[in-house]
Amino acid sequence: MSFDEVLGHEAIRQCLSRAFGRDRISHAYLLAGSEGIGKGLLARQLTETLLCSRSPVGTGVAGVMNPCGECSSCQALASGNHAALQSLSPVESRGIEVAALREMMRSLSLRSGDRRVVVIDPAERLAEPAANALLKILEEPPAGVVFLLISHRPAQLLSTIISRCQRVNMGPLLLEPFLQVLATHPIDESTCRWLFAAVGGRPGAAIGLHQAMERCGGEEALRQILHSPIRDPRDLVAVAMDEGGKSDRQTVRATIRILADAIWAYRPADGPGRWQAAEKATLLSHVARHVERSGSVDLGLEATAMVLSASDLGALRMRLPRSLGVA
Ligand SMILES: [Zn+2]
Repeated sequence: MSFDEVLGHEAIRQCLSRAFGRDRISHAYLLAGSEGIGKGLLARQLTETLLCSRSPVGTGVAGVMNPCGECSSCQALASGNHAALQSLSPVESRGIEVAALREMMRSLSLRSGDRRVVVIDPAERLAEPAANALLKILEEPPAGVVFLLISHRPAQLLSTIISRCQRVNMGPLLLEPFLQVLATHPIDESTCRWLFAAVGGRPGAAIGLHQAMERCGGEEALRQILHSPIRDPRDLVAVAMDEGGKSDRQTVRATIRILADAIWAYRPADGPGRWQAAEKATLLSHVARHVERSGSVDLGLEATAMVLSASDLGALRMRLPRSLGVA
């Protein structure tokens, strides 16, 4: 990944830049906002800046959000292998476990003295013992460690964790910055404008939807797939994701999210079909969340196919919990 990837969220970056320049670095940030809005990208840019050995963090210089891209630290990050960066993500339905958190803190303690960064993504998937352990750590944070908590559902975090973080709320991008971000991808401008109308100012969601359109052979082809009978729900993964037939939990969850965006993108301009599309997208979001937390990926895909092909949403709402195995 390049260091100069366009992210948008200029005001947030400038604000954090100024703070970093003055060496006012919080020990924990909570990057909160909808999925596909750029939280992960911001976390990466913050990490690069904090760890770059030539970045003017703490020198009062503005523009610290630009790591040099050349020092050994920047190169180690670019190769995906930097000992001062630790990332925690959920393991299947178990979430982020306390043992993983403890092991990570132990390995970070071997590098005391250096600045170190911990990315927790998504933070709402911390299992309860891990969340309590993190809270204790944040109460007495180790010197030099910066925690970046990423969350699209911050309401699910412990309020005591939230209160110990500097919260960075990331809203949807306006049209101009959205177009600037997408201009770095091979998407023509009229499609970019359509994507903005389709998913709002969430560039990551727009790119996911565009990739699904390309994979299916264009906007109309994807629309056809969404509105045709689905023979095997497992085929839906290939519609949305290029994962070579893999259907692990994260892939299936991302597939369902993209299909939810697609259903909403293809909503009619008005009439009952518009509200039906909204409800289907909402139901798919619930299915994606269920799959992420504990649900069977096969049942999740079957439920997704049911939602896509449903004409009677009232009956579907009654059937869906049983189909997901939660009733
Ligand atoms: Zn550097």
